[in-house]
Amino acid sequence: MVEGSDIVTGVTKEDSGRFLRRAVKVEEAQRRVLAAVATQKLASEQVALAESSGRRLAKSLSATSDWPPFARSGLDGYAVRAADTALATPDNPALLRVVASVAAGSVARVTVEQGTAARIMTGAAVPEGADAVVMLEQTAEAILAGGERAALIKAAARSGQNVAPRGEEFRLGSLLAGPGAVLKPGHIALLGTFGYADVPVYRRPRVAVFATGSELLPVRAPLAPGRIRDSNSYMVAAMIKQSGAEPLLYGVLPDEPEAVSAAFAQIREEADIILTTGGVSVGDYDVLADIFRGLDDYCSEPLCNSYRLFNRVAMRPGSPTSAAVIDGKLVIALSGNPSACFVGFELFARPAIRAIQGEMNPFLHSVRATLATDIGKGSPHVRYVRIRLQQSRDGSLIADPLAFSKSSMMASIADAEGLAIIPSGAIGAKAGEQVEVLILP
Ligand code: AMP
Ligand code: MG
Repeated sequence: MVEGSDIVTGVTKEDSGRFLRRAVKVEEAQRRVLAAVATQKLASEQVALAESSGRRLAKSLSATSDWPPFARSGLDGYAVRAADTALATPDNPALLRVVASVAAGSVARVTVEQGTAARIMTGAAVPEGADAVVMLEQTAEAILAGGERAALIKAAARSGQNVAPRGEEFRLGSLLAGPGAVLKPGHIALLGTFGYADVPVYRRPRVAVFATGSELLPVRAPLAPGRIRDSNSYMVAAMIKQSGAEPLLYGVLPDEPEAVSAAFAQIREEADIILTTGGVSVGDYDVLADIFRGLDDYCSEPLCNSYRLFNRVAMRPGSPTSAAVIDGKLVIALSGNPSACFVGFELFARPAIRAIQGEMNPFLHSVRATLATDIGKGSPHVRYVRIRLQQSRDGSLIADPLAFSKSSMMASIADAEGLAIIPSGAIGAKAGEQVEVLILP
């Protein structure tokens, strides 16, 4: 099941459709895939705050109070009126009568009048009248003649020092995060602060995956002659999860058009996006290739409900990667070769899954790096070469191509940190050349 070449001679008439698939450029294929999910909207749901990390916010959330909600002491010490300490030095400390001791969580019932201070702990509400907190290390305890407690303040305080004023960080109603934001630990802290015990998030997209191939065994099965285990389903499911979606695993289907069509009909009801692996090449049993060939040609009209987006992409590996809208749902048929399947997912499926969740820039980020070794072979199509990234002594990035990186091989997928983009051409690329590298999540 080699990936069909673009120039084919000597084919019979019924075979010509199979071979003559018009390749679209990667960027055009990506554009079509994103357009296909552009109108799809996910419903929202409420989840407990503890379950909301990594989810995407479905509504704008705002501060439900000022923050801090009261003037808070930043450290342990004495709450004072700064003016009372204006002349204080270690040799000539200010002597202030202590009228209260304020623990975090309690509120003083007294006002700090001229000549007095309150002992205060970190996070406690600064009492009325006080406008500064002096750290404990700059003070000493004393007893007045009448036996009352007092504090010696050995440094002049500045008004406002060590006090977080009410509303310093947030005013009631200020925006915390908007729709589409991925909730990170810092967001969770804010939502907890403002009492969001339940959080409105977009429902995770449900992404179905099934593999085709009569040679495929379930993972639990012992090997049998001529058979291999289905690894793509699980790799793709892991990538779906990593993209913030819920994978629906449908297992392995035989290379039979009826089985695949029946599966589509069932899955369409349950999934937002459908991914398949295998069966897209030009072999006699490539059942998905047949299904895609039978669809109408690309149609960008909003009325079209089932049409092919493409059934060949000008890239290596994964040129037979195909995509369609079938009954309004995006279907991406990834190549069966594990690494071509992997690359096809990163270029088309991950962006679609991210876009459907409201992400504005769903593509992999890229960096420039220097190739460490020659990529000898030229290619009529752009190549995506698995690489490891290293840092050179001057801090620039080096892209080191991995061994075992033919499209049929999977050994180097786990080690890959990026995909170096090698432009099409007769000679590949030489060590020392600058290349663009897509960073793998
Ligand atoms: P196909 O795209 O169906 O022609 O498959 C291309 C190659 O990938 C063949 O060697 C298949 O045996 C292999 N392959 C197909 N599907 C899977 C899968 N789900 N897991 C692992 N390898 C696969
Ligand atoms: Mg197959």
